[in-house]
Amino acid sequence: MESMEVFAQGLNFGLTIFALFILFFSCFLTGKNQEISSSLWLLFWGMFFEFLAGYIEDRSVEAYSTGASITGYAFAELLLLVGALICMALGATRVLVHKIPGTTLVLCISGLGIFGAAFFTLIFPDGNMVNKMRQIFPLTAYLLVALAFLSVSTQKNHSGYLFAGIISAVVALYLFLRLTGIDSSLLTPWYLPFAGYSLYAMSFMLINNNALMQKLEKSHAEIEKYNKRIEDILKSSPFPIIISRLSDDKIIMANNNAIKLFGINAQELERYHLKDFFADSQNRQLLNERLEKEKEVQDFEILVKTPTSDTPFWLLASANVIDYNYNVVLYSAFQDITSRKNRENLLKNQAIRDPLTSLYNRRYYEEEVNKKILEAKAKQQPFSVLMLDADLFKRVNDTFGHKIGDKVLIEIANVMEKALRENDIIARYGGEEFVVFLPNINADQGRGVAERLRESIGASVVYSDEEQPVRFTVSIGVSSSDISDNVDTLIKTADEALYKAKQNGRNRVEVFTLADMETFIKQGQTERRDESQNHHPVFDKENNAEISLLDGVEAQNLEGNTTEVTNLSQEGDA
Ligand code: GH3
Ligand code: MG
Ligand code: MG
Repeated sequence: MESMEVFAQGLNFGLTIFALFILFFSCFLTGKNQEISSSLWLLFWGMFFEFLAGYIEDRSVEAYSTGASITGYAFAELLLLVGALICMALGATRVLVHKIPGTTLVLCISGLGIFGAAFFTLIFPDGNMVNKMRQIFPLTAYLLVALAFLSVSTQKNHSGYLFAGIISAVVALYLFLRLTGIDSSLLTPWYLPFAGYSLYAMSFMLINNNALMQKLEKSHAEIEKYNKRIEDILKSSPFPIIISRLSDDKIIMANNNAIKLFGINAQELERYHLKDFFADSQNRQLLNERLEKEKEVQDFEILVKTPTSDTPFWLLASANVIDYNYNVVLYSAFQDITSRKNRENLLKNQAIRDPLTSLYNRRYYEEEVNKKILEAKAKQQPFSVLMLDADLFKRVNDTFGHKIGDKVLIEIANVMEKALRENDIIARYGGEEFVVFLPNINADQGRGVAERLRESIGASVVYSDEEQPVRFTVSIGVSSSDISDNVDTLIKTADEALYKAKQNGRNRVEVFTLADMETFIKQGQTERRDESQNHHPVFDKENNAEISLLDGVEAQNLEGNTTEVTNLSQEGDA
């Protein structure tokens, strides 16, 4: 190759070596990509052998000028050119059909080439033949490479192949022109090898880049396919499932069951945030905290509100933080447990509430009041306890019947609930007796509350089946934190005050004072109990299987009061 004359100049040689190194490096970069790296490495070695052949040709010119034999040089040069041709042909095939021909075939063709080289240099030396071979071998090699690259260059993401194809075609054209005998000094600028190898290095890097792009696109397509499959599975799940982005809480996927359950508009999923469906923000906070800690939450009960349901309902949720569609998301599956929750609530209410008035029962009251007393003591706040008893209630039953009696009890409960504060504890203590705990209310204020309550109850009315108005009153005993911080003592002393209210004519409020305490203690509890039985036998018989409506008041000294009570109980009766 005459171009190799340029190598005589040190600079050009250095530059060429440098360009070869870059070419080597560009092949090295493709190392991770098996698909293309073997083709590019084959091309590199082909070009490198060709470079060596050029170098040897150069040496042989030198040897010739000293008159030494150049047969060895020529043979070595042709061997290298055969090697270069084989490597480049294999590289081209690999580019074209992603395969390398079988070893036997490669060995046969190589053998043929080696035989040709030996024949014209060692057996029948023919300078003219050698000259033709050193031009035809590279021409064939570059032509093959050009054809291979160009024929795949039309595929998507193959700009590097087009580039390499064009370079190879130009090189092949140059070699062809040289073969036809055009003055090669015109065609061979000194920088040609350097430029050629550098351009190849660039095209190799581009090919590598193309391959990476292709790989990326392929993995995108795969992820898409995978997501589609997950979506299909989720869509057909019998459970409602929602996928929401962790960064902004927006819903990005909801299956049909979830769409129905949450009343979501399927066309505008991203309009919804998962947090919007939590009826209780504390509940949501708790879930978030657990997810942050554990990344996964099983069987978490959440109270849900939706745009389409009037009342919140309970769901059992399992949630996981997962990767989905290039996002970190929360995958949540739900189960409707409203009926289970309702049943649970019913049972709980049955255990703590009185079925007639829906007020708390005595046991729950005592439990809760114990807690509240502890709280109040910690905060050094006062508290009061009221005990109410319906006046001459037996008479209501006797006059209007038990059913209307019940109605009166329910009405008393309603009035109490309306008149008292949210955190006051109201309970039905026994038959027609009620107790109230008033946090942060001292004895004096307790009397005020009791008076207000007494008035409200006295002002209310229920109607008999015959549309007759039935009126009723209550007597109230008040005890407070001044007296005791023991719930039993508080109830007993309030009951004592209630007894006094009954004694003093009913429909009135009496407060148990410290002065009362002295006589209370002196008289002793047993004695009191006997007396108290006189005014509320039902209270003491609460646990008896049957309550007799005939029990109680008759034996008492109420003869004089009867008319008054009848008037109270039955308006318009006079
Ligand atoms: P006093 O003013 O002294 O309290 O007179 P009273 O008639 O209210 O007192 P007494 O203890 O003699 O009678 C209470 C009555 O309340 C007797 C009982 O039949 C009635 N009673 C208790 N529990 C119920 C109930 O659940 N429904 C109805 N309708 N009556 C009840
Ligand atoms: Mg009574
Ligand atoms: Mg009573």
